[in-house]
Amino acid sequence: MAGIGQERIKGLRESEAEVFRRARPKTAASLGNGIAGFLDGVPMHWMKDWPTPFPILVGQARGATITDIDGNRLDDFCLGDTGSMFGHSPPPVARAIRRQAGRGLTYMLPSEDALAIGPLLQEKFGLPFWQIATTATDANRFALRIARAVTGREKILVFNGCYHGSVDETMVRLSNGKPINRQGLAGEFRDLTRTAKIVEFNDIPALEAALADRDVACVITEPVLTNSCMVLPDPGFHDALRRLTRATGTLLLIDETHTISTGPGGYTRAFGLGPDLFVLGKPVAGGVPASIWGMSEDIASRYADYRRTHEPGYSGMGTTLSGNPLQFAAMRATLDEVMTAENYAHMEHLARRLDAGLTAVIDRYRLPWHVARLGARVEFICAPGPLKNGGEAEAAHAPELEAALHVALVNRGVLIAPFHNMMLVSPATRPAQVNRLISAFGDVVKRLT
Ligand code: PMP
Repeated sequence: MAGIGQERIKGLRESEAEVFRRARPKTAASLGNGIAGFLDGVPMHWMKDWPTPFPILVGQARGATITDIDGNRLDDFCLGDTGSMFGHSPPPVARAIRRQAGRGLTYMLPSEDALAIGPLLQEKFGLPFWQIATTATDANRFALRIARAVTGREKILVFNGCYHGSVDETMVRLSNGKPINRQGLAGEFRDLTRTAKIVEFNDIPALEAALADRDVACVITEPVLTNSCMVLPDPGFHDALRRLTRATGTLLLIDETHTISTGPGGYTRAFGLGPDLFVLGKPVAGGVPASIWGMSEDIASRYADYRRTHEPGYSGMGTTLSGNPLQFAAMRATLDEVMTAENYAHMEHLARRLDAGLTAVIDRYRLPWHVARLGARVEFICAPGPLKNGGEAEAAHAPELEAALHVALVNRGVLIAPFHNMMLVSPATRPAQVNRLISAFGDVVKRLT
């Protein structure tokens, strides 16, 4: 598998699982056969999807370090799969939370922090009108609702391999070139391909053909696919996407939830994408659950027309805890004091070093692997690259090998994201942590080859 013998992978997986267990007697005793009272023994079932023999029980997390209840310290490059991309409890955010803690946590009304946030969002992301939600999933759902309302079209278009949260209608895949419901969806009895068109990323002719009927309300995409193995856009792809969407009256929704690793205004700002709708969740309030979704002047004015010509009533958008003062406090601090050009320069600098270090290891052992990077986001992929589309990205996964690598890295003091080999560099990440990751990776690869 991926240039490594199956026996070696199996051997490493077993021996590293044993090392992991031995280092965590307190965790093992606390978890037993699962945490009492929870379905499947975990508060959220994704916590069982890590390849470690049992979940890491966290004592505390600070900056870019996680310490488990057995006292094992981990250099954290997973950072909550982007939710803590700016480090755990960034000091300005922690201060803002403390300040707000005694002033009420939710009241379905704005606070003074909200007065500052509106202009900050305009300035950072270049769109004039915004709403606050609590998860990126919700922000995407609400933005898609607006897209359908203003275009009067039911269909959406996604790229194969996409993920935009648990947004039902995006849960489709291409299988041998045919659209199907994504595998494993619990309780899904609808044929989602009735309303979602799907084509491969970077495939301009397929995109053109899919939009030609002018029945698609919106293309929803990440600027770079990050939810399988990382797929970068070909030169000219985004220009073609914007040109074709405009020519067919289709809106463009850019989901920057992961690609905000590019820079303070995301990939959109760095590459001048000009979307109609924009979504960012996860780290936008420094780890406090919050998301933002914004729209252009044109969409806002078309939505105003829509409301004038349709019966008033429940919009289907919003949730009770969205736009609460704790979110405002944490978001204001994040936008103002954490998502700074200076912090991004630090992240970019160390991410380059990480990229180079991992690439050197791969080259040294002549493995058919590669490293992909988007600003502060780095990924080693156990297949040759660059990858062109979601189909290739799914095929590039080597789950058993990745699982063995993951646990072996944990045992060497480094935590990377599960599911794919993603690593984030935060403003709190230190050069020594990057060096430790590179040398741990080198050590594990040496054992495998
Ligand atoms: N959009 C993208 C691009 C994502 O990667 C994710 C989560 N991985 C989401 C949306 C959904 O975020 P959440 O689970 O916080 O709703």
